[in-house]
Amino acid sequence: MKRLDTTRTDFDTEFRKLLAERDSDTARVDGPVTEILAAVRARGDEALCEFTNRFDRTDVTPDRLRITPDEIEAACAEVAPELLDSLEVAASRIESFHKAQMPEGLRYVDQAGVTLGMRWTALDSVGLYVPGGKAAYPSSVLMNAIPARVAGVKRIAMCVPTPDGALNPLVLAAARRSGVSEIYRVGGAQAVAAMAYGTATIAPVDRVVGPGNAYVAEAKRQVFGTVGIDSIAGPSEVVVIADGNNDPRAIALDLLAQAEHDPMAQSILITPDTAMAEKVERAVATELETLPRAEIARTSWDAHGAIVIVRDLDEAADLVNTIAPEHLELMIDNPAPVFERVRHAGAIFVGRYCPEAIGDYVGGPNHVLPTSRTARFSSGLSVFDFIKRTTFIEAQAESLREIGPAAVSLAQAEGLDAHALSVSVRLAALDGAHNET
Ligand code: NAD
Repeated sequence: MKRLDTTRTDFDTEFRKLLAERDSDTARVDGPVTEILAAVRARGDEALCEFTNRFDRTDVTPDRLRITPDEIEAACAEVAPELLDSLEVAASRIESFHKAQMPEGLRYVDQAGVTLGMRWTALDSVGLYVPGGKAAYPSSVLMNAIPARVAGVKRIAMCVPTPDGALNPLVLAAARRSGVSEIYRVGGAQAVAAMAYGTATIAPVDRVVGPGNAYVAEAKRQVFGTVGIDSIAGPSEVVVIADGNNDPRAIALDLLAQAEHDPMAQSILITPDTAMAEKVERAVATELETLPRAEIARTSWDAHGAIVIVRDLDEAADLVNTIAPEHLELMIDNPAPVFERVRHAGAIFVGRYCPEAIGDYVGGPNHVLPTSRTARFSSGLSVFDFIKRTTFIEAQAESLREIGPAAVSLAQAEGLDAHALSVSVRLAALDGAHNET
């Protein structure tokens, strides 16, 4: 963990070091991923089964790639009712927030009498990757599938690895609740290839979304263009701005909640209160003695964690704008001024009673958020990832008379004669008709 202080002369250098990109391991798998994609493209289901059986230690054949409705029902029956209730709380909150996001189209008549507009249309089909190699992520199913369904996507195909043949009941229950249409027991780069190129069993989709390990991320990068993709998520991050009136243990747990995701995750505490900084540092050490995922969390905290002492909360907000973190917590008495000053953050958690974990599961807004400082120019997953715009223009004779001549002269200036003529013949016809009357 690094300790920084904005009053120290070496602050700028140390802060730059802190922001320097964390190593990414995606580059190391580009070769194997290219081979997997090519094999699935060439040999379809046969290659899909081959890779699945090799990497997930299973014994699937093409007719077993799809998880049947009976298997889904049986798995869902194993989920404890209280857990299904919690899933429902999360799902319905995510659903209502994303419904509220749906935009209106646009249609108006301008001064030249031209009707102008923009219409939103849902994608036809989406492929959802759900990671499952080392852990299972039912929340990820809800966060990716529900916005697609709310946006009006008709077909949502889902791929999830089943290591050693084991289905994860809660993941399947989340898929059923979210309106996923079909589920396949395939993971890794081969799953992304199947969804992008299609096989005899898995029809291709228009966009592949969802997180995954380095193989999945690299595969998404390589199929981009054939299909759309969502962002490629890097390791998780949180910045917590805290004043002196916090329970240090609560703040320590917020920092560790990110750190336990991944050894590459980054947790940063920014505070004007030196005493609070020291208490939080001690509380982190205490929690690390008992947390089950302490090894991961400690690696992350030691290598990438930081405590930054600032002069005041304005300075804290300005640092946040440079960091552009995935998650920002405002654990301060009066969050409003800092909230207004912050411009770059994937999601903001306002007030002491809103830890970031609420947003991971049940808040409502999406937990798929821009990482690695990309919140400077991008946003989290939303219904906008599953709809697209079509613009339209409708002009009658009088409108063409008014705006057509400008198009003719611009087309002539660009040397595009057919463009110019396509307008001018219509203008000439209108003049002829006008002269005859
Ligand atoms: P995964 O499903 O992403 O990967 C498992 C698959 O990787 C296997 O099925 C296999 O096909 C492939 N694979 C493994 N070893 C391979 C090899 N040597 N060669 C080729 N392919 C190989 O599951 P995971 O590994 O548990 O990783 C999940 C990742 O997703 C983690 O990094 C986690 O942090 C991330 N995640 C991110 C979010 C988010 O919102 N950002 C949410 C959930 C999970």
